[in-house]
Amino acid sequence: MLEINKLCFRYSRRSPFVLRDVDLVLADGEIGIILGKNGSGKTTLCKNVLGILKPVSGSLRFDGEDLIRMSRRERARRIAYVPQNIQFGALSVYDSILAGRISYFAYRAGKEDEEIVEKVLDDMGLTSFADRNVEELSGGERQKIAIARALVQEPRMLIFDEPTGNLDIANEQLILAEARRAAAEKHIGILISLHDLNQALEIGDRFFLIKNGRILYTGGKEVITEAAIREVFDAEVRIVEIDHKKIIINGGKIS
Ligand code: ADP
Repeated sequence: MLEINKLCFRYSRRSPFVLRDVDLVLADGEIGIILGKNGSGKTTLCKNVLGILKPVSGSLRFDGEDLIRMSRRERARRIAYVPQNIQFGALSVYDSILAGRISYFAYRAGKEDEEIVEKVLDDMGLTSFADRNVEELSGGERQKIAIARALVQEPRMLIFDEPTGNLDIANEQLILAEARRAAAEKHIGILISLHDLNQALEIGDRFFLIKNGRILYTGGKEVITEAAIREVFDAEVRIVEIDHKKIIINGGKIS
């Protein structure tokens, strides 16, 4: 379980706080969505959890252990990152995924590392891609490789930063389905930053609505209301129910 308490962060002493008193709890097997408009602090929050950025104050714990004091390597075994636009270099799919095992092997990959990579390739239907060069793949395929690379870390938690940013609808669905599968089958927590409300409702169990670095609302789907969206996104929307699902539609100036 991830527990963030009163986390504050700024990029430099002269700049304003980008995260202010952030509290967030995410249990194993749950998909948590950080929702907010551009510049609200979503990426900065993910990077604090990952240890890429160090908080000014507050605490970050995973299963009771202090993440801030943990080495990068120890943290990588617990929490894996699927970044927005991953750059792999001219590697094969297999080697790109194997690189995810780096926090486990000292100099070269062992048999166990290879077996884990092969299992993830198989689980994700990627075996026939193994020898392809990642640079030749489509955006959605590369994103899938990025997920595979994160999964071979055998993490207890995954963090996705805007995973569907550059993808078409079919690939969006594919990536969100992979996330849901990982949460359910491996019973790991998944934290996803998103700005698309309908995608968030489709996949999320818990929601953290962030504005100017502050979490204004936390909870299940019930926290996604027209009023909350107006406040957090400065946008007018209408929420309708279709097939018992909440759908957000534009209720603003475009008519
Ligand atoms: P989001 O992911 O929600 O779009 P970010 O976390 O990227 O938001 O940004 C939050 C705020 O932090 C923004 O005001 C942004 O300009 C600022 N910011 C982001 N990265 C840096 C940086 N490297 N140095 C200084 N300010 C930054």
